[in-house]
Amino acid sequence: MCRVICVSNQKGGVAKTTTCINLGIGLARAGKKVLLIDADAQGSMAASLGIQEPDGLDFTLANIMEKVINDEDLEPGEGILHHTEGIDFIPANIELAGLETSLVNIMSRETILRQFINSIRERYEYIIIDTMPSLGMITVNALVAADCVLIPVEAAYLPVKGLQQLIKTIGKVHRKLNPALTIMGILLTKVDRRTNFARDISAQIREVYGSRVHIFENCIPLSVRAVETSAEGKSIYLHDPKGIVAQGYQRLTKEVLEDEE
Ligand code: ADP
Ligand code: MG
Repeated sequence: MCRVICVSNQKGGVAKTTTCINLGIGLARAGKKVLLIDADAQGSMAASLGIQEPDGLDFTLANIMEKVINDEDLEPGEGILHHTEGIDFIPANIELAGLETSLVNIMSRETILRQFINSIRERYEYIIIDTMPSLGMITVNALVAADCVLIPVEAAYLPVKGLQQLIKTIGKVHRKLNPALTIMGILLTKVDRRTNFARDISAQIREVYGSRVHIFENCIPLSVRAVETSAEGKSIYLHDPKGIVAQGYQRLTKEVLEDEE
C-alpha cells in the first residue's frame, strides 16, 4: 500500500520543501520506501538535496509529464534520482513553469501527474509531493494525484484568509476530481518558542480550524539550523541530529506512521 501525500500551501516560505525533505527522509529512516516529487518550478527541492543548478538538469518532472501527455512510454525508473539518505526523488526546474502554461489546451489536464503516479505507486510506501506557492494547474495536478494533503503553516501571523482559500480549493478538488482526497492535517512550522506570539497563533489556529481539520500534535520549532541544511544538500538529521528541528521532524514522522495504522 502506498500513501501519496501532497504538501501544500500557496504561501511561500512556510517550510513546504523543508517538510517534504525531512518527513521523507524521516520515513526512509523508519524503513519505508519513499519517493519525493518536486512540483515547484523553483527547483528548491533539488537544490536542498544537493543539486547545484537545478535549471541545468536535462530530465525533470516537466519531461515526465510531457511524456504522459504525448502517450509516450517511460523507461522503468526514468527521471528518478537517488539521494544518499535513502530516498528517491524527481526534481523540477524552470521548465515546469512552461509546462503549466501549455496544459491549458490539454485533454484531462488535471490528471497528468496522477496518471504517472499511478504507474509507479506500487513501488513505494510513501510518495510526497512538494508544491509551488500557487494554486495553479500544477498544484491542482498534485492535489488530484494525492490521497491526502499536509498543510504547513508558519506560526508567524494569523494566516486565516490564505488557509480558507486553500481549504476551499482542496474541497473543490475533492468534490469534482478526487473524491478520495482528505486533509491529513495542519503542521505549525517555524514556531518561535521564545515568544508568546507563536503560542497565541497556535491557539487561534486550533480554535478556528481544530474542529474541522486535524492539527498535528508536534510543531516544528524555529531554528537557524534548519536554514543551513538547504545549503548542504542533507537532512536535518545529519546536519543537527540532536537539535530541536530534527526532534520536531522525528515526532512528525512518528505521527504520520501512527496515522497509517
Ligand atoms: P517553502 O517551500 O514553503 O517556500 P522552505 O521549506 O523553502 O519553504 O522554507 C523557507 C525558508 O525557511 C528557508 O530559508 C528555510 O531554510 C527556512 N526554514 C524552514 N524551516 C525552518 C525552521 N524550522 N526554522 C527556521 N527556518 C526554517
Ligand atoms: Mg518550496
